[in-house]
Amino acid sequence: MNSFDLVIVGAGPAGLACAIEAKKKGLSLLVLDKGSVADAIRRFPVDMTFFSTPELLEIGGVPFTSAGFRPTRVECVRYYQMVARYFDLPVRQGVEVVGVRRQGEDFEVVAREGSFQTRTVVDATGYFGHPNRFDVPGSDLPKVRRYYDEPYAYAGREVAVIGGKNSAVETALDLFRNGARVTLIHRGQNLSQGVKYWILPDIENRIMAGDVRALFETIVQRIAADSIVVEGRHREEFPNHAVFVMIGYCPDTSLLRQAGVEIDSDSQAPVHNPNTMETNVKGIFVAGSIAAGRFNNKIFIENGRAHGKLIVDAIVSSR
Ligand code: NAP
Repeated sequence: MNSFDLVIVGAGPAGLACAIEAKKKGLSLLVLDKGSVADAIRRFPVDMTFFSTPELLEIGGVPFTSAGFRPTRVECVRYYQMVARYFDLPVRQGVEVVGVRRQGEDFEVVAREGSFQTRTVVDATGYFGHPNRFDVPGSDLPKVRRYYDEPYAYAGREVAVIGGKNSAVETALDLFRNGARVTLIHRGQNLSQGVKYWILPDIENRIMAGDVRALFETIVQRIAADSIVVEGRHREEFPNHAVFVMIGYCPDTSLLRQAGVEIDSDSQAPVHNPNTMETNVKGIFVAGSIAAGRFNNKIFIENGRAHGKLIVDAIVSSR
């Protein structure tokens, strides 16, 4: 069996930043990802622009320039893939980790494609793969989508968007601007003040003008093939061709739990020391947004990229 100082699960920005630090310190390492490098970003909405400016997304000290003030999805994916090549990081793509088991002083990281022995493990699996649960009758219909890609299939159609923060608002605006008839359904009284300050007036104006219909204090009761039924402040059934459920994400902590890491029942965050990112299980670390549990808007690329240095410093000093 292969043996390493460090196996990092997840080749997103936090995992790559950690791998770069480990390589600089001469640790033997492997990065495993069930998809490609920066796969979650690759799956973001096709025409998405990041909220962060490029310098706040840089890793490994490699400059990131973009054509605009804020980088696009494509620029970001290309940047992280280029950085992985530049540092010649040992990334194995298409390898899905299904278990982490203690083996004496070490761990065995079990993937469908094989097992890897390592002294330490970093879980940098993010959150994007695990949307928050949405279980109402009809939520399993194919027209109900948990990810937004692009608007063009929906021009001239009745589309519902559920949620009241950044993803829901950006999705509603993009659909509206490309010809869809959009109804935004949110359980809250208003849109969240957490919606970015340059987007909030845009959506508020579109709602006031009647371009986007907004149903506040309203939840979806059921979804049928050609309609949707809501309840709360608004109780009605109206025509519907597609539903985008943009209600956020919660990381999958099953690998950590399996290895004995405690998960806080309220936040769903793995118990860890924020100075080292080491969990309650010695030798198992978390990097990036998984560390925040369901409050994943508290850790994003800008601050999650710093975890790698904390982790590698802790590993080196404990040797
Ligand atoms: P989010 O910030 O977690 O917001 C989730 C929204 O869905 C909230 O309005 C919440 O309502 C609502 N919600 C949650 N559970 C629900 C349920 N069971 N039923 C109905 N509504 C429910 O998620 P997000 O907007 O997807 O954003 C996730 C992260 O991506 C954030 O960090 C965000 O900043 C980031 N993001 C970045 C960009 C960009 O860079 N361009 C774009 C979009 C998002 P309550 O407010 O009542 O809890």
